[in-house]
Amino acid sequence: STALGDIDPGTWDKIKNHPCFSEEAHHYFARMHVAVAPACNIQCNYCNRKYDCANESRPGVASEKLTPDQAVRKVIAVANEVPQLSVLGIAGPGDACYDWKKTRATFERVAREIPDIRLCISTNGLSLPDHVDELAEMNVDHVTITINMVDPRVGVKIYPWIYYGQRRHTGIDAARILHERQMLGLEMLAERGILTKVNSVMIPGVNDEHLIEVNKVVKGRGALLHNVMPLISNRVHGTYYGLTGQRGPEAFELQALQDRLEGTKLMRHCRQCRADAIGLLGDDRGHEFTLAEIPDGI
Ligand code: SF4
Ligand code: SF4
Repeated sequence: STALGDIDPGTWDKIKNHPCFSEEAHHYFARMHVAVAPACNIQCNYCNRKYDCANESRPGVASEKLTPDQAVRKVIAVANEVPQLSVLGIAGPGDACYDWKKTRATFERVAREIPDIRLCISTNGLSLPDHVDELAEMNVDHVTITINMVDPRVGVKIYPWIYYGQRRHTGIDAARILHERQMLGLEMLAERGILTKVNSVMIPGVNDEHLIEVNKVVKGRGALLHNVMPLISNRVHGTYYGLTGQRGPEAFELQALQDRLEGTKLMRHCRQCRADAIGLLGDDRGHEFTLAEIPDGI
């Protein structure tokens, strides 16, 4: 069964070879992430900054951080080896819109070298409205925003602070600003025809029930897909990785929530790839293409 049943032909044309937006495509087309954007402008309670951003990635892994120059060399090397490569994404390991100069430099150079590659980013949304026009100019046609709440009273339990307008905001103020910026970003993307996926991290006891409301609101603002991911909570190098010690959902809890959202273009095949993932979904070849493996001549 596909979650994409009610998508019009024009939209289908844009997503059909994107492995993350199309469940069918993920068997045939490959994506690659380059970890060029380490800086982040918010704090999620479930992030300890040592590992990849949970916007898109499986927490608890550290990706190979690259400069834009190194990233371009890596993309060219991979394109030569992986014929199915169709998408280049920047998913942190921090925030691609906040660490904008590096994101932009990488996309511009890759687009010059490989004009037919599709570009996508994932972001927490806070800086997104500042860059939507540039994203449109650069032909970035897929954006993922992580939206864990649409009510600042839920948000205060997830975000201890954000950095916005040259200063740090905390409490309800922080959650309200983040929420408003995420909604504005969604609307701006929809106006420009940029396809948008919303990721939500399901945190039992914090936002699990609330994600039903999130689903309604983001659909109403033009999100094409909604991807509910489990909080992954583990002991990693002696640190409890989770919202102030919060457990992740059991598989049956995630399934039950996804079932309640059924019929709403839900993405179920997301693998929470690393910020430096390469290849078909579920078949990460990132380890074959570390910088050390890439010849200098490229
Ligand atoms: Fe960490 Fe990503 Fe949250 Fe930033 S947006 S604090 S990098 S999980
Ligand atoms: Fe696609 Fe999910 Fe992997 Fe992102 S994390 S590349 S959306 S499967």
